[in-house]
Amino acid sequence: MQSHLLSVIYLIGSVSFIIGMKMMGNAKTARKGNLVGAAGMGLAIVGTIVLFKGDVSPVIYGLILLAILIGTIIGWMTAKKVQMTKMPELVSIFNGMGGACAALISLIEFNHIKHTDHIIETVQNLIPVEPTSAGALFCMLAGLVIGSVSFSGSIIAFLKLNGTLDKPVRLPKYNIINTIFLIAVFAFSVYLFNVETPILIYVLFAMALLYGVMFVLPIGGADMPVVISLLNSFTGVAAAFGGFLYGNYVMLTGGILVGSAGTLLTVIMCEAMNRPLFNVIFGAFGGGAATSAIGDATKGTIKDISVSDTATLMNYSKRVVIVPGYGLAVAQAQHVIHELEIILEERGVEVKYAIHPVAGRMPGHMNVLLAESNVDYGKLVEMDDINPEFPNTDVVLVVGANDVVNPAAKTDPSSPIYGMPILDVENSKNIIINKRSMNAGYAGIDNLLFYNPKTSMLFGDAKKVLTELVAELKTM
Ligand code: NDP
Repeated sequence: MQSHLLSVIYLIGSVSFIIGMKMMGNAKTARKGNLVGAAGMGLAIVGTIVLFKGDVSPVIYGLILLAILIGTIIGWMTAKKVQMTKMPELVSIFNGMGGACAALISLIEFNHIKHTDHIIETVQNLIPVEPTSAGALFCMLAGLVIGSVSFSGSIIAFLKLNGTLDKPVRLPKYNIINTIFLIAVFAFSVYLFNVETPILIYVLFAMALLYGVMFVLPIGGADMPVVISLLNSFTGVAAAFGGFLYGNYVMLTGGILVGSAGTLLTVIMCEAMNRPLFNVIFGAFGGGAATSAIGDATKGTIKDISVSDTATLMNYSKRVVIVPGYGLAVAQAQHVIHELEIILEERGVEVKYAIHPVAGRMPGHMNVLLAESNVDYGKLVEMDDINPEFPNTDVVLVVGANDVVNPAAKTDPSSPIYGMPILDVENSKNIIINKRSMNAGYAGIDNLLFYNPKTSMLFGDAKKVLTELVAELKTM
């Protein structure tokens, strides 16, 4: 009876993950979708603890509750305090924790079989797992390797994103070394699969951790989103192996969903940043953020524009496209930009937002930011749909974006972002760029768009400048 009830709970949990994910596909329902998924996970955890049939001492229950309490407090406080601009760091560290859990499960279960001949307790005994079966052993080793790579790789990604490791670290011939080391990890796993020597599992653990570090260390800044998304899919796959091991359907569904969503996102990000997936997997990343083209080109001159001239130009335009970027998030100018949009629309100007898939510092960053200020989701236009509209656009207002509008991606084969699809803002009639200085963006490279004869620079902090722009428009 208990196991049937648990099966029903797991079914509800699994369905809630799927419904939650579906709801997260739309900005209006995303928050609720997150809660639906979290409620399903909460139900599955409580169900497992309460309905588990094994012989568990009260001390273990106490430890589980203590761990849940500590985890909840840390997770809650971190998520509450984190700034939007630090979200990718949070995602990478949380993802690393998931990988570590999957790896620890494998380590513990491997020792159970090998040291004590202990029969693996399946959480619900729905699928009896034969502990020494080849399938169980395979799940443990795969979960250990993938989870460990995801853990150590995510920690390195975290350190890179928060600036502690700001330069790619590359050994000579690092691609070859990494590939050989990966083959060694596989070969050692196969050896362990056959000899089953308990102590050697720790050697495999250490090798996989080291591979995670070696895998992410050489990768340069602009490619980091792809890596985080890929590591996310690794964590999902590692958790799914845990689900197979225990015959736990909710863990299996959750793992598969995370694994497949992460993989799909990786593919989408690869296309958006023009990095072939093959190169990502085999450590052959070319792009690094450290190189700079500043000073290499005959640049021309830059032109300033005042707030009042900008207001006049926009006021008499028919079509305005706003290109938001990372700087908008830094300045927290999402509310005032919405105010600007409303005023312009009241004057009969059509306003749209051009959304580049990697604008900001995490996938969907601009969508989330603008949704926060209740910008109508229909006004956010994806890159492929907005690009053909630029020739009919009177003014493009670029706010705190840089790399995603850099024409070097199309024209300069030596540029680290060469090949990345960009927003073709140079095709519009007037380009106004708001940023604080001539500093480079994330990829660390100069942007010749600033020197385009159609471009005017509106210098200053985005929030301050946009607030002044709104005030100026109100006087017109
Ligand atoms: P960029 O990082 O290229 O440029 C942001 C610009 O904003 C800077 O040049 C900066 O110039 C300006 N800025 C900063 N603060 C302010 C402010 N307060 N007011 C006005 N301007 C400001 O951003 P993009 O969005 O164009 O491109 C994103 C980059 O990040 C890409 O290279 C992408 O690959 C990378 N990336 C993306 C991730 C994602 O998933 N979206 C994750 C990790 C990296 P100044 O200092 O002169 O003001």
